[in-house]
Amino acid sequence: MADTEIEGGEGRAAGSREQNLGALFEAVLTRGPLSRRDAARVTGLSPASVTKLVKPMITHGYLVERHREAGVPGRPQIPLQVVPERHYAVGVKLMEGELVGVMADLHAEVQSAHRMRYDDTSPAGVVAAVASLTEVLLERSPAARDRLLGIGIGLGGHVDGASGLVVHAPFLGWRDVPLQQMVADRLGIEVVLENDVNTLAVAEQWFGPGFAFDSFAVVTLGVGVGCAFVLDGKLWRGARGAAGELGHMVVVPDGPPCHCGKRGCLEAVVGDEAIVAAMSARSGRRYTTVSQVIAAAHAGDEHARGVFAEAGVGVGRALAALVNLLNPPLVILSGEGIAASDLLMDALRAELERDSFSTSAQDCTLLVRPLPDETWARGAAATMIRRGVLRSLSRLSDQVVG
Ligand SMILES: [Zn+2]
Repeated sequence: MADTEIEGGEGRAAGSREQNLGALFEAVLTRGPLSRRDAARVTGLSPASVTKLVKPMITHGYLVERHREAGVPGRPQIPLQVVPERHYAVGVKLMEGELVGVMADLHAEVQSAHRMRYDDTSPAGVVAAVASLTEVLLERSPAARDRLLGIGIGLGGHVDGASGLVVHAPFLGWRDVPLQQMVADRLGIEVVLENDVNTLAVAEQWFGPGFAFDSFAVVTLGVGVGCAFVLDGKLWRGARGAAGELGHMVVVPDGPPCHCGKRGCLEAVVGDEAIVAAMSARSGRRYTTVSQVIAAAHAGDEHARGVFAEAGVGVGRALAALVNLLNPPLVILSGEGIAASDLLMDALRAELERDSFSTSAQDCTLLVRPLPDETWARGAAATMIRRGVLRSLSRLSDQVVG
């Protein structure tokens, strides 16, 4: 399987035909309309290979040629673009008590979106909720019914996409739930599971600022702390999908207890619950939500400002470790916790500067990006598109002699 393949030393030229088809499709999808010449430049494939690989994709309706570009010096180039209505994919962000779903076309443009609550957190209950969400999306986008590639589902926790297993999802109280197979059996369609921050990273890679970078990290703040890496253009999942557990890096030795059993984890210091608890302890008054603490800080409350400054130090410390390890050119900060970014950033940047090695902190652009749940769901759909199209294209390569 592609997931475990080790690429040879000759770069793109050593890729299998399937990998090359995938890379070419992705280049046209994210950068198109794109001429064959530009596609060769972007993918590193030879112009002759591009011409050969494009042929079956046009024959089978994945790509279409647009009108020749006028006014471009040299031989006129015919731009290629993805045919959006060739396939569709559903993307789902599975959260505590709530699901957000989108129907995306092959261009990963959102055709419809829907949000619904669910109460039954058993695996069967969640499968039923995903099924009814999918049905609503299909009713709204009937053209997708016969052309659905599959469903991409993103959720928080330890998700092993290769085996389709939710290894550990604390917010659902699940361990080792074969959610991928369960949804696939229920709906009779291909399903891809992914950690939700990974789906956000895919969205940022395809449609966000990650587009301009080969490598970057996404860090999310909120109830928990999430982290995902795109390295040399690929999502880095680790041995079993548990990469990016920045939230369980100890930033305050002997700090507050974490639900994972350790003390002083980043999540136990800057997660929503920790912010509320720290504010209640400092002020001697009872706070119940982060937005109350944010409001107090904005009104000039010193306790509240201190709580966020401390959280900023914690995040800065963890980010320093991240930039020291990977030296990424870009880190995107997102998640609902960035509602307090104006209160965190000064302390965060100062600590990041202090704890990082050499130029690692200066090399890294830190972007704060408020992204709605629909963007995470769109990333889940993009994950499904990537997997499903690769599979379809690999079948084409068997059928068509280029
Ligand atoms: Zn922990």
